[in-house]
Amino acid sequence: MKCGKPLRLEQKEYCGDCMRTKYSFTGGRAVFFYHGPMKESMYRFKYSGRREYASFFAREALRTQGRYLDTIRPDCIVPVPLYRKKQLKRGYNQAEDFAVALAHLSHATVDTKLVRRTRNTLPMKGLSAADRKQNVRNAFSVDQKRLIKYDYQRILLVDDIFTTGSTIDAIANVLTRDLDRKVYFLCICTGEGT
Ligand SMILES: [Zn+2]
Repeated sequence: MKCGKPLRLEQKEYCGDCMRTKYSFTGGRAVFFYHGPMKESMYRFKYSGRREYASFFAREALRTQGRYLDTIRPDCIVPVPLYRKKQLKRGYNQAEDFAVALAHLSHATVDTKLVRRTRNTLPMKGLSAADRKQNVRNAFSVDQKRLIKYDYQRILLVDDIFTTGSTIDAIANVLTRDLDRKVYFLCICTGEGT
């Protein structure tokens, strides 16, 4: 009902993380389940320059989550930023490619300047839930002038993989700090809820 993770028990409405954690985001969904061939696909999309996957992911996102996105009606789509040096090295930000493709198909606005990653955080892979949270704490800053100028009230964050939600939540926390703004997310992949 909140993070969109698939659950084994049909009668359950919230996963363990959503029950335990008071997230700053309102809710979100993902397009694919992160397992099997999707793991390889995400790896190629992130690290092997397969940027063209973005348009397929965006098409599938609209096909499977279009109705959800219609209920959110976001004022803008914001990709989770990479640390600037990391992006220069990799040559692109896969979340940004996905955001641009999604916005193109749904005639929405992308804002890549609103959120900045101010610290070069460790890769999340292999970190515990607590370490993930600590890793992204104070790692993002928001351009407040921009936020006010465009009067964003409903923001859709997009990223490649949703795991414990700590990255999305860290950004949502900064975006909702002073105003009752709604932050949602759409990720390409998600894990199973427990
Ligand atoms: Zn959940």
